[in-house]
Amino acid sequence: MIQPDEVRQQILDRIKPLGTETIPLEEATHRFLASSISTRDPIPPFDNTAMDGFVLRAADTSSASESTPVMLPVVATIEAGMPGDTPLESGQAMRIYTGAVIPPGGDCIIPFEKCLQYDSEKVTLDRPIGTGSHIRKMGEDVVAGESVLEPGIRISPAAIGLLASIGATEIPVHRRPRVAVHSSGNELVEINSDLNPGQIRNSNLYSLCARLQRWGAITLPRPVLLDNIDAIRDGLQETLALEPDAIITTGGISAGDLDYIREVAREMGDDVQIRKVAMKPGKPLVDGLLGGVPFFGLPGNPAACLVSFEMFVRPALARMEQRPDGIHPVRYGILQTGDPVPPGDRMRLLRGRFSPDPEGGADRVEIPSGQGSHLLSGFARANCLVKIPAQEQTVKPGDLVEIWSLTDEEA
Ligand code: AMP
Ligand code: MG
Repeated sequence: MIQPDEVRQQILDRIKPLGTETIPLEEATHRFLASSISTRDPIPPFDNTAMDGFVLRAADTSSASESTPVMLPVVATIEAGMPGDTPLESGQAMRIYTGAVIPPGGDCIIPFEKCLQYDSEKVTLDRPIGTGSHIRKMGEDVVAGESVLEPGIRISPAAIGLLASIGATEIPVHRRPRVAVHSSGNELVEINSDLNPGQIRNSNLYSLCARLQRWGAITLPRPVLLDNIDAIRDGLQETLALEPDAIITTGGISAGDLDYIREVAREMGDDVQIRKVAMKPGKPLVDGLLGGVPFFGLPGNPAACLVSFEMFVRPALARMEQRPDGIHPVRYGILQTGDPVPPGDRMRLLRGRFSPDPEGGADRVEIPSGQGSHLLSGFARANCLVKIPAQEQTVKPGDLVEIWSLTDEEA
């Protein structure tokens, strides 16, 4: 048996970045920025008011007090969108609305609600106003010529807003992997079929495509590979012709006589490794290159194929897209009630549920029963994998356990 981390490293060593593409801003949310973006325009592009009120010169208000109020004539109104280029002379006020340009000469704002009195002709103040009060300065958010976003970040809705504000319409991003997915096995039928004896529905195709789409990959669902060497070879050749960035198969990689994927991958590929990984579930694995394309022969058991995806495929896809989140960020939670987990000779990735502690302490983790690699019901309710290292002492309720969130990449 080989350690999972070693296998993952060997897989990563074969992966090359896919390169970049330029896409419209509207499609860029959640993509990974490929190069830094700078702006010609400062943001805000001009000094403007943060409040509705009056724009003044602070010096005109310095003597204002409750006993000696200052009255200024209102000589104009500036609304948002107006040029605001008429100078404000000493001793004058202008009515102004949020987002409107501060006119030349104006240097502070008094909000309507802070005025002693006001009408369309005059405003009266009973206090001095500080210079710059309620003024949003040009370039306060972004200075002209500076980079607004650095390469590598995931483009959030706020980043979309920032890019829109500087007029960036075409965004350079890393290309997303196109991943072909084949199931294999003579027992598999379409999910809309009734089952004859011996048949099961091809659920792995759907779970893997769903996982890939959640990850942000582009899926190429492919036909089931029947359990014979020629069919597998032909099927994989047809898939290679589509020039995917990765190929995944499920099933057909255990030690059984009918498990031909291993053989065909060896025959067609380069550096194809047939593994016994010290991991449960997910012991069988085939990985290598088919026609230069990273290939992953995942186990057929439905829970095992999804766990192997998290361990081996996710990091590889991340490297292709230059994403920083390929390897699950480690977090910990406290195991709640349930059966103790005895020590084992393989790393285990149990399907669990973590939830916040109502008292604000460490997350709580539950491991439901039904952990077999062929069982999906528990997995369907899980939101994390619980990693129990090999040779660990019995892990029991109250212990701190490592968890891999299955929802992190949404952040
Ligand atoms: P195999 O590795 O091909 O022997 O498959 C292991 C187990 O996973 C068998 O019980 C298969 O019937 C099951 N299995 C394989 N492929 C799929 C699939 N696409 N959907 C659901 N179950 C599968
Ligand atoms: Mg099979």
